[in-house]
Amino acid sequence: MQVDWRERFADTPDVIKGAQRQRTTVPVLDFEIGGGEFITMAGPCSVESEFQLLATANHVRRSGARILRGGAFKPRSSPYSFQGLGLEGLKMLARAREESGLAIVTEVMSETDVPMVADYADILQIGTRNMENYALLEAAAHSGRPVLLKRGMVATIAELLRSAQLILDHGNPHVILCERGIRTFETALRNTFDVAAIALLKQISHLPVIADPSHASGCSELVPALARISIAAGADGLLVEVHPNPAKAWSDGDQSLDFAQFDDMMAGLEPWLEVRRKQLEHYRPGTLPHEAMAARNMEAVG
Ligand code: PEP
Ligand code: MN
Repeated sequence: MQVDWRERFADTPDVIKGAQRQRTTVPVLDFEIGGGEFITMAGPCSVESEFQLLATANHVRRSGARILRGGAFKPRSSPYSFQGLGLEGLKMLARAREESGLAIVTEVMSETDVPMVADYADILQIGTRNMENYALLEAAAHSGRPVLLKRGMVATIAELLRSAQLILDHGNPHVILCERGIRTFETALRNTFDVAAIALLKQISHLPVIADPSHASGCSELVPALARISIAAGADGLLVEVHPNPAKAWSDGDQSLDFAQFDDMMAGLEPWLEVRRKQLEHYRPGTLPHEAMAARNMEAVG
């Protein structure tokens, strides 16, 4: 039986597909997220030094990344861990953008920092721990920048959509959803990658969806497989941690790819991206498979 998703997610009407809106594309520099192109965002967990950041930026750009990630403000599980370089880190990100031409995505943790981070970043990242920080979401919505909204590690899909709805409601249509793994009874890996969430979000929402296989697994060996699965599930792109020397990383070294591993992952994605391209061509231009399916379903239910 056909599920009525608009009814099931009735309190978040603006993020659910409808006759008016089947797809949102988010413009960034000279490209867009949620269009046909699969967008890779890559870079270190934390900005550590200019050398580390520039070396990573130049490498990931050559291997096909469009966006450089890197945290200047770090929400750490321990108050004794490295908390980020702050403004100094933002300046390094801006320099890396200048040098590499990559767009910048970086996390903002406090609403009072939003104007400053928005001055340096092309996309504001809301981290998993802040998905329901409504004051922060509101400030980010008003920043004029697209918002990469990470799913809370214990948030349901409905709750993720509620946070997205709040940003849209404050006049910012450029929300990118991000599945980064959730907490379950399973402890073998850092998180449980909810790949069904990606498929469902692509089915029901017009917003772009990005997969973060790094935080989802916590383990660099698993990242390429989860990245491949993300393509099959319909993701519009990836957020991947890359570090010149993961063993020496100041945060999240276990899940960070070194340059060679990143290149291997990117090469390994090609056959899957080829299938994705064929699927896109097979459907009406501007119509992704899940959109065509949603349109058919819509006709079926009248
Ligand atoms: C990060 O992207 O480095 C990060 C802290 O992510 P999350 O909020 O998903 O843990
Ligand atoms: Mn990280």
